[in-house]
Amino acid sequence: NRQQILDNRPEGEAVASNFKLVSTETPALKDNQVLVRHHYMSLDPYMRGRMNDAKSYAQPQPLGQVMQGGTVGEVVESKHPKYAVGDKVVGFGGWQEYSVVDASQPGALKKVDTTHVPLSHYLGAVGMPGVTAWYGLVKIIAPKAGETVVITAASGAVGSAFGALAKARGCRVVGIAGGPDKCKYVTDELGFDACIDYRQHPDVKSMSAALKEACPQGIDGYFENVGGYIFDAVLLRTNAFARIALCGMIAGYDGQPLPLANPALFLINRLKLEGFIVSEHMEVWPEALAELGALVASGKLRPRESVAEGIEAAPEAFLGLLKGKNFGKQLVKLI
Ligand code: NDP
Repeated sequence: NRQQILDNRPEGEAVASNFKLVSTETPALKDNQVLVRHHYMSLDPYMRGRMNDAKSYAQPQPLGQVMQGGTVGEVVESKHPKYAVGDKVVGFGGWQEYSVVDASQPGALKKVDTTHVPLSHYLGAVGMPGVTAWYGLVKIIAPKAGETVVITAASGAVGSAFGALAKARGCRVVGIAGGPDKCKYVTDELGFDACIDYRQHPDVKSMSAALKEACPQGIDGYFENVGGYIFDAVLLRTNAFARIALCGMIAGYDGQPLPLANPALFLINRLKLEGFIVSEHMEVWPEALAELGALVASGKLRPRESVAEGIEAAPEAFLGLLKGKNFGKQLVKLI
């Protein structure tokens, strides 16, 4: 069982040598345990925060232990009565090829149906990132039909799900993404009404002009994934009583400062901003996953994936994700 452990913590930018590839034997199963062979593991931006030994909403990733993270795979051995060899499951198996899971622990493992939804999508659109989009849109932005909503990192795992969910609610949906290929995908494949390439608009003035054109009625809802000058530009275009779901600030995950230029706009435009962590809202997951699963099964949401091959490729793929080298949900294909 090959595993990636966190060997040392980053100083500033995360680097490949923070991780170490090791190999261990999988232990014999005890009662209620199952052995899962991972087909895919998920790489997610939140993992960068856990590499630091800093106070946060989640415990830091312990040094010398397998990197934590979501996985999908199949049961290859079982000592739990409800799990049989061949069952497809989603869990939190970490950066390794196999995991031994105590299936009697609530939420440790969930069987999934791959008839209409490919297994890998349970780590993306029909998994944690999809529910993240759902929560921010439905519970925080709560748009009315006809309102304009904007999202950063629009081509990614969260962004793509957000687009389909917002279109289903009759919104004008505007994405912001890096580069012409991603923007073309966002409009042509994901069905957004417009997409702004932030690399063509590298400052507040230029970005706010592009937003004015893409959002002629102003912005009623904003789903923030990035932070920095794009946030400042969006604030300038918000309508009175706009709602902001603060989901992520990836532009600052390696420690970059993200000052806000004009906080008075919160008062002037009577804005509401709410940060959230999707794992603290387990009550919405069933409803959200049902809607997301239906969108994927009906072809209304066609999420894209970037797939790195093999456990040895995980660190570089993860560092690439933090720099926007991924195009869609970043996965690692295992055995
Ligand atoms: P994505 O698939 O969107 O990948 C990350 C993307 O971020 C990159 O592809 C890149 O897209 C963009 N990006 C990276 N650096 C920058 C930068 N400096 N400026 C602008 N864009 C940048 O990842 P996810 O969909 O998994 O996650 C999206 C966001 O949601 C993250 O901020 C993440 O932390 C957050 N999140 C929060 C959760 C919560 O519970 N609050 C749960 C899950 C995710 P591009 O090339 O277009 O710039």
